[in-house]
Amino acid sequence: MKDIKHISVAIDGPSGVGKSTIAKLLSQELGFVYIDTGAMFRTLAVHVLDKNTRLSDCEQVERAIEDADIAVRYIGGTQHMLLNGEDVTDRLRTERVSAAASVISQYPKVRQTLLHLQRSIAEKEDVIMDGRDIGTVVLPDADVKIFLTAAPEIRAQRRFDQLKAAGKLEGALLEDILRDQQERDHRDSNREAAPLRAAEDAVLIDTSFLSADEVKTLICSEIRGIG
Ligand code: C5P
Repeated sequence: MKDIKHISVAIDGPSGVGKSTIAKLLSQELGFVYIDTGAMFRTLAVHVLDKNTRLSDCEQVERAIEDADIAVRYIGGTQHMLLNGEDVTDRLRTERVSAAASVISQYPKVRQTLLHLQRSIAEKEDVIMDGRDIGTVVLPDADVKIFLTAAPEIRAQRRFDQLKAAGKLEGALLEDILRDQQERDHRDSNREAAPLRAAEDAVLIDTSFLSADEVKTLICSEIRGIG
Protein backbone atom coordinates (compact mmCIF):
# COMPACT_ATOMS: atom_id res chain seq x y z
CA MET A 1 0.00 0.00 0.00
CA LYS A 2 1.22 3.52 -0.80
CA ASP A 3 2.46 5.51 2.20
CA ILE A 4 0.16 8.36 3.12
CA LYS A 5 1.82 11.43 4.58
CA HIS A 6 -0.13 12.51 7.62
CA ILE A 7 -0.44 16.09 8.83
CA SER A 8 1.30 16.90 12.09
CA VAL A 9 0.89 19.99 14.24
CA ALA A 10 3.46 20.58 17.00
CA ILE A 11 2.50 22.73 19.98
CA ASP A 12 5.22 23.54 22.49
CA GLY A 13 5.48 25.86 25.45
CA PRO A 14 5.97 26.02 29.22
CA SER A 15 3.69 24.60 31.93
CA GLY A 16 0.25 26.15 32.30
CA VAL A 17 0.33 28.03 29.01
CA GLY A 18 -2.84 26.30 27.77
CA LYS A 19 -1.30 23.74 25.39
CA SER A 20 -3.62 20.87 26.26
CA THR A 21 -6.80 22.98 26.34
CA ILE A 22 -6.01 24.39 22.91
CA ALA A 23 -4.81 21.09 21.45
CA LYS A 24 -8.07 19.42 22.54
CA LEU A 25 -10.16 22.18 20.93
CA LEU A 26 -8.14 21.83 17.73
CA SER A 27 -8.45 18.07 17.66
CA GLN A 28 -12.25 18.35 18.02
CA GLU A 29 -12.45 20.94 15.27
CA LEU A 30 -10.14 19.18 12.81
CA GLY A 31 -10.64 15.53 13.72
CA PHE A 32 -6.91 15.03 14.35
CA VAL A 33 -5.67 12.77 17.15
CA TYR A 34 -4.46 14.72 20.18
CA ILE A 35 -1.23 13.38 21.68
CA ASP A 36 -0.35 14.66 25.13
CA THR A 37 3.35 13.81 25.49
CA GLY A 38 3.51 15.22 29.04
CA ALA A 39 1.19 12.36 30.07
CA MET A 40 3.83 9.91 28.82
CA PHE A 41 6.55 11.47 31.00
CA ARG A 42 4.09 11.51 33.88
CA THR A 43 3.42 7.78 33.38
CA LEU A 44 7.12 6.98 33.65
CA ALA A 45 7.22 9.23 36.74
CA VAL A 46 4.46 7.12 38.35
CA HIS A 47 6.51 4.00 37.62
CA VAL A 48 9.70 5.31 39.23
CA LEU A 49 7.82 6.78 42.20
CA ASP A 50 6.11 3.41 42.79
CA LYS A 51 9.55 1.83 42.91
CA ASN A 52 10.84 4.44 45.39
CA THR A 53 13.61 5.34 42.97
CA ARG A 54 15.94 8.21 43.90
CA LEU A 55 14.87 10.79 41.32
CA SER A 56 18.14 12.70 41.41
CA ASP A 57 20.06 9.53 40.43
CA CYS A 58 20.03 9.32 36.64
CA GLU A 59 21.38 5.76 36.49
CA GLN A 60 18.89 4.49 39.05
CA VAL A 61 16.00 6.09 37.16
CA GLU A 62 17.22 4.76 33.82
CA ARG A 63 17.44 1.24 35.30
CA ALA A 64 14.02 1.57 36.91
CA ILE A 65 12.29 2.30 33.60
CA GLU A 66 13.69 -0.76 31.84
CA ASP A 67 10.64 -2.82 32.77
CA ALA A 68 8.10 -0.05 32.06
CA ASP A 69 5.87 -0.84 29.12
CA ILE A 70 4.06 2.38 28.16
CA ALA A 71 1.12 2.38 25.78
CA VAL A 72 -1.54 4.86 24.73
CA ARG A 73 -5.19 3.96 24.27
CA TYR A 74 -7.99 6.23 23.11
CA ILE A 75 -11.29 5.76 24.92
CA GLY A 76 -14.14 7.96 23.67
CA GLY A 77 -11.56 10.23 22.03
CA THR A 78 -9.64 10.72 25.29
CA GLN A 79 -6.04 9.66 25.71
CA HIS A 80 -5.50 7.04 28.40
CA MET A 81 -2.06 5.94 29.56
CA LEU A 82 -1.29 2.30 30.23
CA LEU A 83 1.65 1.29 32.39
CA ASN A 84 2.43 -2.42 32.11
CA GLY A 85 -1.17 -2.96 31.05
CA GLU A 86 -2.74 -0.94 33.87
CA ASP A 87 -4.63 2.30 33.17
CA VAL A 88 -2.86 4.93 35.31
CA THR A 89 -4.53 8.01 33.76
CA ASP A 90 -6.18 9.00 37.06
CA ARG A 91 -2.82 9.09 38.84
CA LEU A 92 -1.02 11.51 36.52
CA ARG A 93 -2.28 14.96 37.58
CA THR A 94 -0.81 15.50 41.04
CA GLU A 95 1.87 18.01 42.02
CA ARG A 96 4.11 15.09 43.14
CA VAL A 97 3.92 13.46 39.72
CA SER A 98 4.39 16.84 37.95
CA ALA A 99 7.60 17.49 39.87
CA ALA A 100 8.91 13.93 39.33
CA ALA A 101 8.14 14.06 35.59
CA SER A 102 10.05 17.31 35.29
CA VAL A 103 13.11 15.79 37.02
CA ILE A 104 13.24 12.48 35.13
CA SER A 105 12.54 14.09 31.76
CA GLN A 106 16.13 15.43 31.89
CA TYR A 107 17.54 11.92 31.50
CA PRO A 108 18.42 10.85 27.94
CA LYS A 109 17.11 7.26 28.22
CA VAL A 110 13.77 8.49 29.52
CA ARG A 111 13.40 10.75 26.49
CA GLN A 112 14.63 8.07 24.09
CA THR A 113 12.10 5.54 25.38
CA LEU A 114 9.22 7.89 24.68
CA LEU A 115 10.50 9.28 21.40
CA HIS A 116 9.72 6.02 19.54
CA LEU A 117 6.18 5.95 20.89
CA GLN A 118 5.57 9.60 20.00
CA ARG A 119 6.88 9.28 16.47
CA SER A 120 5.13 5.99 15.77
CA ILE A 121 1.70 7.51 16.50
CA ALA A 122 2.40 10.52 14.29
CA GLU A 123 3.32 8.21 11.40
CA LYS A 124 -0.11 6.62 11.43
CA GLU A 125 -2.47 9.53 12.07
CA ASP A 126 -3.04 13.24 11.54
CA VAL A 127 -1.93 14.58 14.92
CA ILE A 128 -1.81 17.57 17.20
CA MET A 129 1.06 16.81 19.56
CA ASP A 130 1.92 18.96 22.54
CA GLY A 131 5.02 19.06 24.73
CA ARG A 132 8.31 20.89 25.12
CA ASP A 133 10.44 19.58 22.23
CA ILE A 134 7.91 18.51 19.60
CA GLY A 135 8.84 21.09 16.97
CA THR A 136 12.58 20.83 17.67
CA VAL A 137 13.22 17.11 18.27
CA VAL A 138 10.20 14.80 18.06
CA LEU A 139 8.66 16.07 14.82
CA PRO A 140 11.20 18.47 13.27
CA ASP A 141 9.31 18.19 9.96
CA ALA A 142 5.91 19.00 11.44
CA ASP A 143 3.63 20.82 8.98
CA VAL A 144 2.79 23.54 11.52
CA LYS A 145 4.79 24.46 14.62
CA ILE A 146 3.36 26.65 17.34
CA PHE A 147 5.13 27.95 20.43
CA LEU A 148 2.81 29.30 23.13
CA THR A 149 3.91 31.73 25.82
CA ALA A 150 2.15 33.63 28.63
CA ALA A 151 3.28 35.64 31.64
CA PRO A 152 4.32 33.35 34.56
CA GLU A 153 1.79 34.94 36.96
CA ILE A 154 -1.04 34.37 34.49
CA ARG A 155 -0.04 30.74 33.95
CA ALA A 156 0.13 30.14 37.71
CA GLN A 157 -3.29 31.74 38.20
CA ARG A 158 -4.79 29.48 35.52
CA ARG A 159 -3.32 26.40 37.19
CA PHE A 160 -4.61 27.60 40.60
CA ASP A 161 -8.11 28.08 39.18
CA GLN A 162 -8.06 24.63 37.53
CA LEU A 163 -6.96 22.86 40.72
CA LYS A 164 -9.54 24.79 42.74
CA ALA A 165 -12.35 23.91 40.34
CA ALA A 166 -11.29 20.24 40.47
CA GLY A 167 -11.15 20.31 44.31
CA LYS A 168 -7.44 19.36 44.13
CA LEU A 169 -5.85 22.44 45.64
CA GLU A 170 -4.88 20.56 48.83
CA GLY A 171 -4.10 23.81 50.66
CA ALA A 172 -1.65 25.08 48.02
CA LEU A 173 -1.35 28.86 47.72
CA LEU A 174 -0.93 30.77 44.47
CA GLU A 175 2.68 31.53 45.52
CA ASP A 176 3.41 27.79 45.92
CA ILE A 177 2.10 27.08 42.45
CA LEU A 178 4.09 29.94 40.94
CA ARG A 179 7.29 28.77 42.67
CA ASP A 180 6.85 25.11 41.53
CA GLN A 181 6.08 26.26 38.02
CA GLN A 182 9.21 28.44 37.92
CA GLU A 183 11.34 25.51 39.11
CA ARG A 184 9.91 23.27 36.39
CA ASP A 185 10.33 25.92 33.70
CA HIS A 186 13.93 26.44 34.76
CA ARG A 187 14.70 22.68 34.63
CA ASP A 188 12.85 22.20 31.33
CA SER A 189 14.63 25.15 29.68
CA ASN A 190 18.14 24.48 30.95
CA ARG A 191 18.51 20.71 30.59
CA GLU A 192 20.92 19.37 28.00
CA ALA A 193 18.57 16.84 26.43
CA ALA A 194 15.84 18.41 24.28
CA PRO A 195 15.31 21.62 26.28
CA LEU A 196 12.14 23.65 26.07
CA ARG A 197 12.61 26.13 23.25
CA ALA A 198 10.84 27.39 20.17
CA ALA A 199 11.83 25.90 16.82
CA GLU A 200 13.22 28.52 14.43
CA ASP A 201 10.21 28.08 12.16
CA ALA A 202 7.61 28.09 14.94
CA VAL A 203 4.80 30.65 15.09
CA LEU A 204 4.92 32.36 18.51
CA ILE A 205 1.62 33.15 20.21
CA ASP A 206 1.37 34.97 23.55
CA THR A 207 -1.81 33.63 25.15
CA SER A 208 -1.73 35.99 28.18
CA PHE A 209 -4.72 38.03 27.06
CA LEU A 210 -6.36 35.65 24.57
CA SER A 211 -9.17 33.18 25.20
CA ALA A 212 -8.63 29.53 24.28
CA ASP A 213 -11.05 29.99 21.37
CA GLU A 214 -9.08 32.95 20.04
CA VAL A 215 -5.85 30.95 20.16
CA LYS A 216 -7.58 28.01 18.47
CA THR A 217 -8.77 30.27 15.64
CA LEU A 218 -5.24 31.65 15.12
CA ILE A 219 -3.77 28.14 14.93
CA CYS A 220 -6.56 26.88 12.66
CA SER A 221 -5.74 29.58 10.16
CA GLU A 222 -2.07 28.48 10.20
CA ILE A 223 -3.14 24.88 9.58
CA ARG A 224 -5.52 25.80 6.79
CA GLY A 225 -2.72 27.88 5.27
CA ILE A 226 -0.64 24.76 4.56
CA GLY A 227 -3.14 23.83 1.86
O1 C5P B 1 3.04 18.94 29.90
P1 C5P B 1 3.13 18.36 31.28
O2 C5P B 1 3.13 19.37 32.38
O3 C5P B 1 2.12 17.28 31.51
O4 C5P B 1 4.57 17.65 31.30
C1 C5P B 1 5.12 17.12 32.50
C2 C5P B 1 6.62 17.24 32.43
O5 C5P B 1 7.11 16.36 31.41
C3 C5P B 1 7.14 18.63 32.05
O6 C5P B 1 7.40 19.45 33.18
C4 C5P B 1 8.43 18.34 31.30
O7 C5P B 1 9.52 18.28 32.19
C5 C5P B 1 8.22 16.95 30.74
N1 C5P B 1 7.97 16.98 29.31
C6 C5P B 1 9.08 17.02 28.47
N2 C5P B 1 8.91 16.95 27.11
C7 C5P B 1 7.68 16.86 26.58
C8 C5P B 1 6.52 16.84 27.43
C9 C5P B 1 6.71 16.93 28.80
O8 C5P B 1 10.20 17.11 28.92
N3 C5P B 1 7.56 16.75 25.25
